[in-house]
Amino acid sequence: MQPLRLHPDRLFPADPGQRAIARRLYDAVKALPIVSPHGHTDPQWFADDEPFSDPASLLIQPDHYVFRMLYSQGVKLEDLGIPARDGSTVERDPRKIWRCFAEHYHLFRGTPSRLWLDFVFADVFGMEVRLEAGSADLYYDRIDMLLRDPAFRPRALFERFHIEVIATTEGPLDDLRHHRKIRDSGWTGRVVTAYRPDAVTDPETAGFLDNLKAFGEIADEDVGTWRGYLRAHEKRRAAFRDMGATSTDHGHLRATTADLSMMDCEALYARVRAGEASPAEADLFRAQVLTEMARMSIDDGMVMQLHPGVYRSHNPSLLARFGANMGADLPLPGEFVHGLKPLLDRFGADPRLSLILFTLDETTYARELAPLAGHYPALKIGPAWWFNDSPEGMRRFREQVTETAGFYNTVGFNDDTRAFLSIPARHDVARRMDCVWLAQLVAEHRLEEDEAHAVARALAYDLAKAAYKL
Ligand SMILES: [Zn+2]
Repeated sequence: MQPLRLHPDRLFPADPGQRAIARRLYDAVKALPIVSPHGHTDPQWFADDEPFSDPASLLIQPDHYVFRMLYSQGVKLEDLGIPARDGSTVERDPRKIWRCFAEHYHLFRGTPSRLWLDFVFADVFGMEVRLEAGSADLYYDRIDMLLRDPAFRPRALFERFHIEVIATTEGPLDDLRHHRKIRDSGWTGRVVTAYRPDAVTDPETAGFLDNLKAFGEIADEDVGTWRGYLRAHEKRRAAFRDMGATSTDHGHLRATTADLSMMDCEALYARVRAGEASPAEADLFRAQVLTEMARMSIDDGMVMQLHPGVYRSHNPSLLARFGANMGADLPLPGEFVHGLKPLLDRFGADPRLSLILFTLDETTYARELAPLAGHYPALKIGPAWWFNDSPEGMRRFREQVTETAGFYNTVGFNDDTRAFLSIPARHDVARRMDCVWLAQLVAEHRLEEDEAHAVARALAYDLAKAAYKL
């Protein structure tokens, strides 16, 4: 078996001068608390504080980065224990699932998943040898044993990871019971929700009309009219704020916005509510809703996030068999300059609005996002996201947005993950890569080292807190 080593200089420049600067910058920020303003951990973990059940369901089954790679190399999701919608047989033995993962672990060489997982194995579970077929049982037994230890329960890990605050993401139909339970428990860990209303803002989402009915019920509003529909959002947003939410999140196909008259909104809503909207009308509806959400954000102070440009569930047979979020989502080209104009015409200069933009289309960084955020007071740029959440993706992000948006129109790091144990690893990679970028600026005499220290701290901690009002 080969030793598992996390080199203290990993990701740092090979050049000794720059490496020394990067080390100094990183040493000053590596222990800062984690602020995790956007992600998808399950609030029930922190509400119930039950032990995680086994290594496979903790580390493999929630991580679509992991199973997309395995699937691409012929591993069946059945063999990873992903439940099939038709109830047909899938592997249920977590040890067998773990062995399958270990046999294929070499597929992750050079990927960020490998960096994150090795960090978890070494740092969280104290593993000293590399994961491979021959060490699969050693890993399984050790992790399985540790998960029964109270020190590895969700709340204990939250504290060990030095998480100051974490945001989960819930839909508008969620009754927020887990957040209420956390709040009422007296535990000091800070877990807040975020309002993601896609289920009732996208007429093309599955079950939309049923969702709308349930939305009216949970908000106790008549959603038969456009005004009632908007009031229902306002009430749900208030309920989410009661559970600590400071932000909303919108996963739209495009960053298109609209600013229709009240009469046009009412007519469009009537078509949508009758289930008669054409694809173009559905698009227009989503566009109008974004502008309404911006208006509500100005009223209630919630920060708005827009995550456009994902072709979800691209693989129809996988969707039919396993459902959504199975690693079959793909990046699309993005367009912001025209798309956001109706919203920006109304609210772009309003400092009470904070709209954080994400993209999977890196060609928009220098051409659209940095110029937009480098002008409009209401706009900021979210970090390198999803497919770009990698050392190279972070480098490309800083190289392309800093020239026009600077550092202070960006918002620090988001881990955006369901994989709870990987959170410290992901923040560590981001802190290292920001220090690498800053070290280059210092080495080239473009920034003094004391200023680089201030920026490194802002990127690791202060900006996320400020941008998300946490
Ligand atoms: Zn997300």
